[in-house]
Amino acid sequence: MKQEIKKKQIAILGSTGSIGTQALQVIAEHPDRFEARVLTANSRWQLLAEQARQFKPAAVVIANEAHYEALREALQDLPIAVYAGSEALCQVVESSEVDMVLTAMVGFAGLPPTIAAIRARKPIALANKETMVVAGELINSLCREYEVPILPVDSEHSAIFQSLVGEVSPIEKIILTASGGPFRTFTREQLETVTPAMALKHPNWDMGAKITIDSASMMNKGFEVIEAKWLFGVEPDRIQVVVHPQSVVHSAVQFADGAVKAQLGVPDMRVPIQLAFSFPERLQSSFDRLDWFTMHDLTFEAPDTERFRCLALAYEALDRGGNAPCIVNAANEIVNRAFLEGRCRFLQMADVIAETLDRASFIKQPTYEDYLHSDQEARRLAASLL
Ligand code: NAD
Ligand code: MG
Repeated sequence: MKQEIKKKQIAILGSTGSIGTQALQVIAEHPDRFEARVLTANSRWQLLAEQARQFKPAAVVIANEAHYEALREALQDLPIAVYAGSEALCQVVESSEVDMVLTAMVGFAGLPPTIAAIRARKPIALANKETMVVAGELINSLCREYEVPILPVDSEHSAIFQSLVGEVSPIEKIILTASGGPFRTFTREQLETVTPAMALKHPNWDMGAKITIDSASMMNKGFEVIEAKWLFGVEPDRIQVVVHPQSVVHSAVQFADGAVKAQLGVPDMRVPIQLAFSFPERLQSSFDRLDWFTMHDLTFEAPDTERFRCLALAYEALDRGGNAPCIVNAANEIVNRAFLEGRCRFLQMADVIAETLDRASFIKQPTYEDYLHSDQEARRLAASLL
């Protein structure tokens, strides 16, 4: 007799984004296994309403309160609770019905609801890497206190996580692969004049605008180094960034005997999202498979931290410790937005981040409140430097 498996009830923070919509595709592929319990968005209330109609969550939250009435009206014929505001994001994840929280919102704003979810003992499927960049140490200590697992969604960290399954020996080195982004082969002179439109054309991944710009500057890879340090307890001198333009090797782990385990696949975020939902099981998927004979050269090269200074700044922030990564993250959110809006040149982004890091108040052992203040201070400083 086939046993009924209880469907996992998933809260998706940021369901209208790139990761959020792909997570809903995963849920749609496995209606017998997963249910969207909570959906949230910042301002795209129409898409959120459409998603709610299709997936019938118990609750939706629109963070931007200006859209509350419109969303409530759009859903008034359905038994769906509608909330607004950032406080509500923290409250909905605490619901006793929620089994897992996917953090797919972008930026520092992901920190408070992630902490609320951990305190409510909800396993975290972590896409919002900024949470670990800003407050990795705090998140880790809360996860220990509340006995909450973090399942990485970022493709590199999912690859590392998969390479570690079954291992009991320490990691010698993490090989964190990077596509190199759209400007991998550009000279410094060429980088002087690149535009947002050029940066938004990522060669291998179709992602939200913020992370696409971070990928072009390689700040994204810098953040992933910080994320890897906290997720896997590995010091930065044991995390090697390797540029691999084909994005087939999603990352690897080297052990004391010299053996290297990697995870490979077609670049498709639905694979790590699905695994975070189903782990330790692997579920059937309809996604593309690797074709070994059309996949020609797999190449690997060293990153250039002079052209891509943001990567060096992330290592520097780790070296300084304390709230330094929080400062870098906040400054980066400001310059990323400014670059997108044509108010900051591409290479100027690193200059402003470096300057903000030097000027902002350093705190060796920040508390949660310190992170909130530090984020605000660094944003003000970075904005004043533009
Ligand atoms: P996106 O911009 O496409 O979507 C962001 C989502 O978060 C949207 O639903 C938006 O409504 C919501 N949101 C944004 N700001 C908010 C706020 N202040 N309050 C509440 N909700 C807010 O972004 P994305 O590309 O899906 O990335 C989401 C996160 O996942 C980021 O942290 C990113 O670094 C990480 N990530 C993304 C990818 C990818 O392939 N897109 C890969 C790895 C990691
Ligand atoms: Mg990644």
